[in-house]
Amino acid sequence: MSGESEDVIDLRSDTVTVPSPAMRQVMATAEVGDDVIDVDPTVARLEAAIASELGKEAALFVPSGTMANQIAVRVHCRPGEELLCEATSHVYYFEQGAYAQLSGVVARPVPGTRGILRLADLEHLIWPEDEHFVRTRLVWIENTHNMGGGTVQPFDELAAISRWARDRGLRLHLDGARLFNAVVATGRPAREWAALFDTVSVCFSKGLGAPVGSALVGSRQAMAEARRHRKLFGGGMRQAGVIAAGALYALEHHVADLEADHAKARRIAEAVEGAPELVLEQGPVETNIVYFRVASPSLSAAELVERLEAQGVRLLHVGETIRAVTHRDVSMAQVEQAIDRLLRVVRAGAGKGR
Ligand SMILES: *Cc1c(COP(=O)(O)O)cnc(C)c1O
Repeated sequence: MSGESEDVIDLRSDTVTVPSPAMRQVMATAEVGDDVIDVDPTVARLEAAIASELGKEAALFVPSGTMANQIAVRVHCRPGEELLCEATSHVYYFEQGAYAQLSGVVARPVPGTRGILRLADLEHLIWPEDEHFVRTRLVWIENTHNMGGGTVQPFDELAAISRWARDRGLRLHLDGARLFNAVVATGRPAREWAALFDTVSVCFSKGLGAPVGSALVGSRQAMAEARRHRKLFGGGMRQAGVIAAGALYALEHHVADLEADHAKARRIAEAVEGAPELVLEQGPVETNIVYFRVASPSLSAAELVERLEAQGVRLLHVGETIRAVTHRDVSMAQVEQAIDRLLRVVRAGAGKGR
């Protein structure tokens, strides 16, 4: 079920998923209250459900993943403190440096491999206590890693990072916008990943298919602080049960379907690898994100994306890198159609086509 014309195959992001009729039904009939004055019962049910799924005491429903992340920064860090994050992580790359703008926090970008950080990359980075230096406070991990190619962080390495950080009094946050993709790809429950972190953010509006919303999850005390920061950032929402109902439906019904998205992404990767005109980037596909480029400089990524758009296939490109993200509103048959059109366009080559 797509929100657009049936012919359009939209692989720009898993955020383009639209609510199904069954999801709209539970949203239309959701019990609501005023979640700022006291409580909205459907928001409370969603928060209890996601906290329990992640094995934490409490959760906070927020409008976006960016807000969940930025509230986490503010919960853990004071102005002049530093967070360590992978150099291509969402918090560093795609949030306008909000940790600095909103909370006076410094980020130290650490180059990883396909978004993956090892303990050895971090071990030497804690600033000594000295009035010249910022204070290192927070370790930030993204799983799955978007710019890394939807990569899953190796669990044992994360466990080592978590032990190391906790031994040194550092806090840990997991940007789990696509945590459930990692859960489905590995079979390792969300609570096992979450146990390595003080707070976790998850998105309901990506592959899970809800129209709006994310959650921040952690201790009861951290979430009480988080609730204050949510109000400060303008994220206090009144009859939010209407959207929370969609998120709860997604959590209860759509998690297992992510496996099908991974199969669709593997199919795209296979086609890219089989085409001499295209080059797969970021190595083997682990979840629902595929990065690739055109082998020959005679056809730019921008041209390719524009020609495919004219053929009803929508992709994103950053520079010469092209991204395809699979999701529940694109079927395997549509993926096959998209591959056919992609190969036809690259084979038509530069200067022709359209
Ligand atoms: C999408 C995304 C976010 C932010 O979510 P929004 O709801 O778009 O603000 C944060 N982190 C990662 C890894 C994401 O992919």
